[in-house]
Amino acid sequence: MSTANGPCPYYINGECRFGRTCTRPHPPELSPELRPNDNYTVSDIPGQECQRCLDQSLPCDKVGRQSGKADPCSECRHFGGENANCVLLENVSRNDHLWRQMMGRGSDGYKLPAYKPRDAPRKRRGQQITPQPMKGEDLVSDWSGQTREELLDLGDMLPEDVRARPRAYLKAAGLSHQQEKGRQWMNNQRQIDEGKVSSKRKHDEISGAQPYSVPVYQVPQFPLPQPDPQRGPAESVTFNLDGNSITSAKVRYPGINGDGGLEVTSFPAPAAPTKLPRGTQGR
Ligand SMILES: [Zn+2]
Ligand SMILES: [Zn+2]
Ligand SMILES: [Zn+2]
Repeated sequence: MSTANGPCPYYINGECRFGRTCTRPHPPELSPELRPNDNYTVSDIPGQECQRCLDQSLPCDKVGRQSGKADPCSECRHFGGENANCVLLENVSRNDHLWRQMMGRGSDGYKLPAYKPRDAPRKRRGQQITPQPMKGEDLVSDWSGQTREELLDLGDMLPEDVRARPRAYLKAAGLSHQQEKGRQWMNNQRQIDEGKVSSKRKHDEISGAQPYSVPVYQVPQFPLPQPDPQRGPAESVTFNLDGNSITSAKVRYPGINGDGGLEVTSFPAPAAPTKLPRGTQGR
C-alpha cells in the first residue's frame, strides 16, 4: 500500500481531494461508495479467530477453549494437519484480515480468493498438501466440537458478493501510523474549517506555542507526483487555494545541465469565463 503505484490511501477512505487528477490510482473496486447487496456483516472485533480460520475465511470456535494447541478450534482439529497450532490472533479482527487480503489482490481486481472446500488439496509453503486432522493424542482428552462432516456441509461462510466485492463490506483498516496521523489531521482540519471545534481548542491547535498571529502548518500526507522520466522525482509541489479547495497544484522538477527546471500545473483551475469587450457580444 505504500508503494508509489499502490492505490491512493486517501481515496480508499473517501478523503482524496484530487479526484481524477490524483497521481495515485483510484481503483473503482476499492471505492468507499460501494454498498453491500447482502446484509452480511463482517466482524470487526479483534481476537475472535485463529490464524488459519482468518486465512481461509472459516468460522472459528476457539474462543472459550484452553489457550494452548491441545484444545484447537473445530476447523484446525479436523483440517489443520498434525502440527496445527491453533491460537487466537489477539489484535486482528476478521475485517482487518480480509482488508489486508483484499489489498494484496490488486492483480485480481481486489476480489477475495475463491472458496475451496476444506478437504481440497491446497498449497502450503510451496507444497501441495491434502488437509489432515490433528493427531488425537495431542488433544485434551475431553475435546469436543463440530465433526468433520458438519464442517464440510457448512460450505463457504462468506456470501458470494463478499468475495466478489469485499470493499463494500469492509471498513478501512491497516492504515500506517503516519497515514492515520495524516487522516486525523485532515479530519481535524475539516472540523476547524466547519467551525465544529470550540474556539478555545481552535485557538490552541492553530497557534500552539507560537505567537497568536503565526499559524502552524502541519504537513498532511498528500499523494506524491510521479517522477519525470528525465528529471527524476519532483522537487516541490505548490498548492493554490481558494477557501477550502485546491484550485491548482504546481509540481516543480529539478533542472538538467544547468537549465532552470520544469514547472507543470498538474491540477489546473477551470478556465475563468473570458470577458468579451463591450459590444462584441452576439456577433
Ligand atoms: Zn487520490
Ligand atoms: Zn479457528
Ligand atoms: Zn484454529
